[in-house]
Amino acid sequence: MAKKVIKRSWAEPFKIKVVEPIKMTTREHREKEIKIAGYNTFLLKSEDVYIDLLTDSGTNAMSDRQWAGMMVGDEAYAGSRNFYHLWDNVKKYYGMPYFVPTHQGRAAEHIISKILIKDGDFVPGNMYFTTTRLHQELAGATFVDVIIDEAHNPKSEHPFKGNIDLEKLKNLIEKVGAKKIPYVSVAGPVNMAGGQPFSMENLKEVHKLCSEHKIKLWFDATRATENAYFIKEREAGYKEKSIAEILKEICSYFEGIWVSAKKDLMVNIGGILATKNKKVFEKARNMVVVYEGLHTYGGLAGRDMEAMAIGLEEMVEYDNIRARIGQVEYFGKELDKYGVPYVRPIGGHAIFLDAKRFLSHLTQDQFPAQTLAAEIYIDSGVRGMERGIVSAGRDPKTGKERYPKLELVRLTFPRRVYTQAHIDVAVESIATVYQNRKNITGLKMIYEPEYLRFFQGRFEKL
Ligand SMILES: *Cc1c(COP(=O)(O)O)cnc(C)c1O
Repeated sequence: MAKKVIKRSWAEPFKIKVVEPIKMTTREHREKEIKIAGYNTFLLKSEDVYIDLLTDSGTNAMSDRQWAGMMVGDEAYAGSRNFYHLWDNVKKYYGMPYFVPTHQGRAAEHIISKILIKDGDFVPGNMYFTTTRLHQELAGATFVDVIIDEAHNPKSEHPFKGNIDLEKLKNLIEKVGAKKIPYVSVAGPVNMAGGQPFSMENLKEVHKLCSEHKIKLWFDATRATENAYFIKEREAGYKEKSIAEILKEICSYFEGIWVSAKKDLMVNIGGILATKNKKVFEKARNMVVVYEGLHTYGGLAGRDMEAMAIGLEEMVEYDNIRARIGQVEYFGKELDKYGVPYVRPIGGHAIFLDAKRFLSHLTQDQFPAQTLAAEIYIDSGVRGMERGIVSAGRDPKTGKERYPKLELVRLTFPRRVYTQAHIDVAVESIATVYQNRKNITGLKMIYEPEYLRFFQGRFEKL
């Protein structure tokens, strides 16, 4: 008899030392709570949530080393030891000599947008990120999406849907002139496209084109290690390179980076602004005093900076990233068993349900993704979030709705937090909602805040 092929699984490269109880609620309770929350999962109380896949932002589990680091916080107002430890690691892992800490990612976005952008400028980028684009617009720029078309197609299996379309970028340079483009804003993996990476080859080409026109590249390196992982897995010539080496190479093409440390660095709070440009650094270091705090703490406690410094060391560990992305992959493959539509290929930090196909009987004005996130919560207490027309917001010039091609519900995995059994529960809930999808009705918006409306907007059942 032929030997049966035995599957060999991987497991998380850690064990659990501290636990936080969570509890399941009743359907009745959740129906009441989501109504009170205006059908917006951002407005739910966390204690009413069972499995929280809202975001991986600041919700990660710190390691015992990071917690130990919290105890050696140097809370001096100026020149904290932890600041210097963090700075050393920013140099070591991102290869950027100059660094300013900020309390989170958007604070760094605010500062860098104000420094680099003049009124009437254009900022091209690979799709957009909500807070990034808002700060670019508030600084006076018009954001222009130059991502490849495949990124807007949830069915496309392109391995690097985060790539920039060189023709789109060239056309923009020709149309508005290089002088009106302060920098190209690159993110990777691209959150709004479904956690999709760019390739090193594409980055090199973009860098070459921009160098010819003296345009700098700036990088939203918030989840850069995941992009490095995909390059290692999918791009020729990188299999033998470490995540740290690939990350360093990516960063070498940029003048500077901003980072929300609440993601890759696995801390609860923190941000980074780092650059090779001394002049930009000096301006940033001066501005941080106005908006955040002295340049050696930037709105953070010393202990937070220590946890960040250690997080930088842990984030480049291959086994950590493989387990993280492996969890997302497992989620996707389980969903496949029930035919649930989601963005392909499976991305880095989250599964993005394709709400347009999931609730194909709803029009985009009935907020399919907003509706779906609420329905999943009602079914099981699993919390995801909308990434569609609500997140896209209105055009700042015309005030008209933007109709994004993608209408998604994001289910995001905090790092080192949930087990495979939690994933099974979430998958089964989504499959149940999918089976009953025809009975679901849409929403109407009853309160719309001016900025980033997805956070605080309120809805009512149609
Ligand atoms: C979270 C995030 C930001 C903003 O960072 P905050 O720490 O939430 O202010 C910017 N860019 C990307 C890609 C993000 O995921």
